[in-house]
Amino acid sequence: MRSYDIVVIGGGPAGLAAAKSAADNGCSSILLIERDTKLGGILNQCIHNGFGLSHFGEELTGPEYAFRAYEELRSTIDSSRDPDSGKDTPSVEILLDTFVMEITPEKKIFAMNKKDGYFEISSKAIILAMGCREKARGALAIPGSRPAGVMTAGLAQHYVNIDGYMVGKKVVILGSGDIGLIMARRMVLEGAEVLACIEIAPQPGGLARNITQCLQDYGIPLYLRKTVTAIHGKDRLTGITVSEVDEKYTPIPGTEQEISCDTLLLSCGLIPENELSRKAGISIDPKTGGPFSSDVHETSIPGIFACGNVLHVHDLADNVTKEAIEAGKAAALYVSGEAPSTSGQAIHNPKIFPGKVVKPLTQPAGENSLDGDTAVHRMTCIICPRGCSLTVTLGDDPKVTGNACPRGEAYAIAEISHPMRTLTTTIRVRKEDGTIGRISVKSKGEIPKQEIFDLAGKIHKTIIDAPVSVGDEVLPGVIATSSI
Ligand SMILES: Cc1cc2nc3c(=O)[nH]c(=O)nc-3n(C[C@H](O)[C@H](O)[C@H](O)COP(=O)(O)OP(=O)(O)OC[C@H]3O[C@@H](n4cnc5c(N)ncnc54)[C@H](O)[C@@H]3O)c2cc1C
Ligand code: SF4
Repeated sequence: MRSYDIVVIGGGPAGLAAAKSAADNGCSSILLIERDTKLGGILNQCIHNGFGLSHFGEELTGPEYAFRAYEELRSTIDSSRDPDSGKDTPSVEILLDTFVMEITPEKKIFAMNKKDGYFEISSKAIILAMGCREKARGALAIPGSRPAGVMTAGLAQHYVNIDGYMVGKKVVILGSGDIGLIMARRMVLEGAEVLACIEIAPQPGGLARNITQCLQDYGIPLYLRKTVTAIHGKDRLTGITVSEVDEKYTPIPGTEQEISCDTLLLSCGLIPENELSRKAGISIDPKTGGPFSSDVHETSIPGIFACGNVLHVHDLADNVTKEAIEAGKAAALYVSGEAPSTSGQAIHNPKIFPGKVVKPLTQPAGENSLDGDTAVHRMTCIICPRGCSLTVTLGDDPKVTGNACPRGEAYAIAEISHPMRTLTTTIRVRKEDGTIGRISVKSKGEIPKQEIFDLAGKIHKTIIDAPVSVGDEVLPGVIATSSI
């Protein structure tokens, strides 16, 4: 049986940062297990930008963030190689395409893969970093038939961004969480018509910046206090019924409205992936769906730590990384005996990094209005997740208020005269064996908003040749954000 000091389960941003941190804090025997064939977790399919502002100090796409997180881990592995003997002594081993099936309170890990079959590993500490999954239709209990065309927004994101399949032509999004908003824009850029985003709550669930750059930019209406009350169609979805809801979110009879569509994307929340944790007897907090944890993210079982979306759902990958660095350090100190177990304190979930501030939509952004006698233009700043509500007093010398930093002022002035956006999409790549794959790309910097569709169309028609590395300029003004 193989044995390690620390085994990390999950190779998303949480697992990558936890493994690096454990190594940086002196642990020299670490195994990272990932069920996918690639590291990076959910970030690989999140090809949009909006990641990395606090950890890397610049705005990155999801694949770029994953690449940087892996580079950070690799630099730790490289620096642990013995320069004299030339012999590799990596402190972090990585096992891909390997599924962890069970863990025990004694920190035994049962896993399987194609090469080794079913096998057992023993460990002094475990770091859980398995991420989360989306609430599917079953969990939402929407009545009606079971046609094709109803799926979670994250599944659609995987089909479109990784596999290159288009999932529908006339789309409705149920739920205004960030995944749904991002997918609304993505579907429009891929040529679909997105008819509406429907939200049961009185305010949107996603970041204010995503309401602006994913819905308002593309004229997609957001309906609040409404839900889907029936699904129609036999083989393929033909339409849905939407109803208004009361304060208790109960549909109000007589408010039904039919929408004809072939695709319904569900973006109604995420659930921490804790089947392994539950089976091992780890106490789960019913509020977060993740393990109860101490201040250093140790669970109720001594030596088992948790970080990232498996602990509680995070809005920002940067906060996942921050939490994972703490968990990795705590696990290393636990293994070396420098810090006692804190599992006795795992009775609450005290340390949640501040997430988004959900602000009610006061008025549609991007519209001129009168404030007394003064013409003003209100908008949400999309530069960072804080999403400040800005007001520009129009005139020869426009004045901006509501911005928490100078970047907001520059954004607002540009937005009323020449709005700029970054395009993120995918491009087809002819591999060396002749088959066609797909990588994510972005425009080299911001481009005028009205040029987005032209550039997206050009990229859509093109097939480039492999190999491609992150950062390569694959078309004039278009940069690769993942590699093949
Ligand atoms: C659509 C979407 C949009 C987002 N947009 C933004 C954004 O704009 N900006 C931002 O900062 N954040 C954003 N986020 C949030 C951020 O991406 C996540 O919070 C973060 O990636 C979670 O990291 P994680 O490592 O905890 O989980 P994941 O990235 O999900 O990684 C978990 C890993 O564990 C593996 N795993 C699970 N179970 C097992 C098992 N039994 N055996 C082996 N491996 C296993 C999985 O395969 C996966 O690779 C977004 C998230 C989503 C889903
Ligand atoms: S004004 Fe500054 S703090 Fe506010 S959203 Fe814009 S960039 Fe962020």
